[in-house]
Amino acid sequence: MSAAMRFRDKTVLIIGGNSGIGLAAARAFAGEGARVTLTGRDRATIDSAVAAIPGAVGHDCDVADLTTTSALIDALAAAGERVDVLFVNAGVGGFAPVRDVTPAQWDQVHGINLRGCFFAIQQALRLIGPGGAIVVTGSIGADAALAGNVAYASAKAGLRATVRILAKELVGEGIRINMVSPGPIETPLINRNPGMDAAAVEGLRQAMIAAVPMHRMGAADEVARAVLFLASDEASFITGADLRVDGGTLELR
Ligand code: NDP
Repeated sequence: MSAAMRFRDKTVLIIGGNSGIGLAAARAFAGEGARVTLTGRDRATIDSAVAAIPGAVGHDCDVADLTTTSALIDALAAAGERVDVLFVNAGVGGFAPVRDVTPAQWDQVHGINLRGCFFAIQQALRLIGPGGAIVVTGSIGADAALAGNVAYASAKAGLRATVRILAKELVGEGIRINMVSPGPIETPLINRNPGMDAAAVEGLRQAMIAAVPMHRMGAADEVARAVLFLASDEASFITGADLRVDGGTLELR
């Protein structure tokens, strides 16, 4: 099979596929022959994504509300769907220095980025069999001592531990699970930091670019290509790994 159609006849479920990295991955999977089901919270961007991607289907799912995650998987199961590739990509940012972090902010970031992602994987496992592949979006923030990033970084570090443990638990079932950890990527998330005004967001962007040896932000497509590699049979001997896509930010510091 040509490398350009690695996902022909495969079913791909993307949790958080209506924006940024998830949307770029949805396009790329569909471009290589996959049937894509993508989810998000925002109905308008789900609809526009589905309209732009041939054969794609969209569902509402707020991973912070576990009933919507289980309802999504129930609906797919009732329709007789299987999942060959699961891409768990939902995530929110949130900067605050240590004294300003509130329990509500902490719970929101951890509720989506760690708890919500874990239970999305747990639920989706009902539809994944031998040969299945799972990719989870982490962040180099888990390893970078970036001031103000404690809630986000700790959630992503927990998610990486989750991936390693699930890799161990699932390897005997023939299911692989890996993480892709982006550095700064130009997506809506970067401009949506609650509590930061436009000038502070721009300051953060410039600080992030200054830390990247390639002196630029990454593009969502550059992360999507790594996701597709990890999800494909080209990565058939890789599980429990964390692939950084960060322009050398951590390796070269
Ligand atoms: P976007 O904001 O464009 O995308 C975030 C995605 O997550 C959207 O599809 C969004 O859907 C979904 N999402 C957010 N909250 C929930 C929720 N409660 N339930 C279900 N889906 C949800 O940003 P990115 O593309 O940048 O982010 C994608 C992933 O990449 C995230 O996990 C992020 O942490 C990670 N990342 C991003 C980096 C960057 O620099 N951009 C760097 C490192 C990691 P909706 O809009 O409908 O809520």
